[in-house]
Amino acid sequence: MDCIFCKITSGQIPTNFVAVSEHAVAFNDISPRQPVHVLVVPKQHFNDVADLNNSSPEILADLMALAMKVAGDTSEGSFRLTFNTGKEAGQSVFHAHAHVTSVQPR
Ligand code: AMP
Ligand code: ZN
Repeated sequence: MDCIFCKITSGQIPTNFVAVSEHAVAFNDISPRQPVHVLVVPKQHFNDVADLNNSSPEILADLMALAMKVAGDTSEGSFRLTFNTGKEAGQSVFHAHAHVTSVQPR
């Protein structure tokens, strides 16, 4: 499948992961829109968070735990956790991912 995040999670595109869990990886957004802008991405392909929630709540819980760890490690505790879902909501990469953003880096 021609999916940029599958290439990143599989290592086909070498990427510096800021954190890793059993089912997810975290890396810096290529065009950050806040001082902290990290993407948290399941290793397995799901089209969006609704697909992920329906297919595997266990992987979603693992991804959420990793997102909270990243938020705690990179921000002062004030952050946003966002899943854009659907083109009209601003989703541009159709492999589920959470954005962790903050204006207050740690
Ligand atoms: P969304 O618009 O919610 O689908 O978010 C996709 C995000 O992926 C955007 O913020 C992009 O800047 C980011 N992005 C796209 N390609 C890459 C890449 N190769 N490495 C890191 N981030 C990327
Ligand atoms: Zn994918």
